[in-house]
Amino acid sequence: VQNQRAECSFSTVTWEQNTRTPFRFLADAFEVMEATTSRLSLIKILTQVFQKIVDTTPDDLLPCVYLCTNSLGPAHEGLEFKAGEATVLNALSSATGTSVKVLKDRLVKLGDIGDLAAECRTTQQTMFKPPSLTIQGVYQEFRTMANLTGKMSTKEREKHLQKLLVSASSKEAKYIARIVLGKLRIHIAYKTVIAALATVFAAKHEGASVKEATATLNAVYSQLPVWDRIIPVLIQNKSTVGLEEQCKLTPGVPVGPMLAKPVKEASDVLERFQECWFVCEYKYDGMRAQIHYLPDGKVKIFSRNAEDDTPKYPDIVEGIKFAISDNNTVSSFIIDSEVVAYDPETNTMKSFQELQGRARKEVKLEDIKVPVCVFAFDILFLNGESLLKWTLKQRREKLFETFTPVQGKFQFTTSKVFTDWEGVDEMMDEAVQAGCEGLMIKALTGEFSSYEPSNRSQNWLKMKKDYMNSIGDSLDLVPIGAYYGRGKRSGVFGAFLLACYNPETEEFQTVCRLGTGFSDEFLSSITKYYNDGRILSEPKPYYRVSDTPFIRPDVWFEPCQVWETRCADLTLSPSHTAAKGMITAEDKGIALRFPRFVRIREDKSVDDATSAEQILELYSHQSSKM
Ligand code: ATP
Repeated sequence: VQNQRAECSFSTVTWEQNTRTPFRFLADAFEVMEATTSRLSLIKILTQVFQKIVDTTPDDLLPCVYLCTNSLGPAHEGLEFKAGEATVLNALSSATGTSVKVLKDRLVKLGDIGDLAAECRTTQQTMFKPPSLTIQGVYQEFRTMANLTGKMSTKEREKHLQKLLVSASSKEAKYIARIVLGKLRIHIAYKTVIAALATVFAAKHEGASVKEATATLNAVYSQLPVWDRIIPVLIQNKSTVGLEEQCKLTPGVPVGPMLAKPVKEASDVLERFQECWFVCEYKYDGMRAQIHYLPDGKVKIFSRNAEDDTPKYPDIVEGIKFAISDNNTVSSFIIDSEVVAYDPETNTMKSFQELQGRARKEVKLEDIKVPVCVFAFDILFLNGESLLKWTLKQRREKLFETFTPVQGKFQFTTSKVFTDWEGVDEMMDEAVQAGCEGLMIKALTGEFSSYEPSNRSQNWLKMKKDYMNSIGDSLDLVPIGAYYGRGKRSGVFGAFLLACYNPETEEFQTVCRLGTGFSDEFLSSITKYYNDGRILSEPKPYYRVSDTPFIRPDVWFEPCQVWETRCADLTLSPSHTAAKGMITAEDKGIALRFPRFVRIREDKSVDDATSAEQILELYSHQSSKM
């Protein structure tokens, strides 16, 4: 016991070997993590948490990882908490006997549901001491709550939550309330989890390193992002050795999509693909779709973000089977594609906005108003075999052999193979004429042409027509605050403070004040959206904002949306903090000049926002061309 105490600087909670881990232990860890902004310190604390659990009750590691990441299971399972503020207030009211009205008033003063829950517990007396909470128990209770359906489910959910709150200490209640509302915000993304797991499970033999263990975990997680599959193997093997063989790409589980780097001109492309074959494909303006065909004949479709989009596309589920060249030889596959709204009468592609207008849930075949066409560009898995390590040339041949296009329903991307620039400009024009954003340019042969899950590398480049003379790409940024509108815009927000995400420091760093590109309808609806419980009384500790008065917003936002934004160029700025400390001018950050709003990126989460490193790359590239 003393040893365990010495290991965990943040908690004195102890428990017997192989008995359930007290939730109090995790609540102690959350409390210190909440006050920590340094990524290294966060990893250290999380490593201590994982190590202690592995040493005492290894079965609790899996629920612990899910609770730390404020989730209930893998992304593609789509299990959500489904509880709103009202549910938490009602449960708190029943657990403490305080009226909802009093709780609501107090919440306005405190500003945080967690602080409110903690305060209620401090003042409440119970006659009998309820059983103490465990990590496993809390996690299972949350899953039960999330799985409830039907008319009475809200009431039932309240009862489950009330039960948890009655047994909770003040600190435990604080984090239970926050987790249920998806507001744990200790900012632990999967990368921090990987770093901590790598430290705990690095092989113990000589020459082995945490770096190797991290690389293995990253590779495995990008192919099989399911902790339920990875963690039991880690515990069984006691290290990351052998993990890659036991956790492989599996149809039915989405793999992280390969991403592209932006380029502006021919010389950038030629520099990268000197004397080697590359393929240019139309860059379609639709939504990414990873289509899985399982050995039992089921079809699953996943979004860029690993969400299960199958209910949205019954037409693709139905149609894909007709595109398989020979049903007798195909038992399973995973293909990568872009889904585009399509007019079958005129055989033309329609805009991204049309596609966005399509219903999302429980769509019935007969109700579909916006037909779509799948444009397939890659195959990652076929008949039980992973093709990730194959060259793109080989994968394309396999794709063309396995499928036969069906006009307007399933087609291959328009593509041409090149070794030099001759003809690429014409193809760019044709792509834009056809309604595409530009071209994707991909390494075709050699070791660099494998499929790299979740990676944004030089092996896939994207070139968009409208940015060839500007910075090369639009940016996906997170609004973290807003300024009240004046004159015509009074009563709504008139401008917003936007930030990029720095995964290294896990901070949102500001890049611009954005006030252009909005319609009046958009401003009213977005004002309503944020006023609906998404305003903060103070900025998050992980918002990095300078003291310049012009930058300080009138209100702070929860980080919950990603906005695609264009700009004329990037410039060094004393007022913004993006990439600050990563450039030679230490005291300056990078800012967007003449930013303009394009659209909300529903398919991206805030952690997928443009990173500080990407902004620095775009900036450096732009200055080197000036
Ligand atoms: P963007 O804003 O350009 O869509 P992103 O961050 O979503 O950026 P990128 O990797 O930068 O993703 O751009 C590639 C995206 O373009 C893919 O995610 C995919 O949805 C789309 N796309 C369209 N046509 C193709 C194609 N032929 N090959 C690969 N991706 C394509």
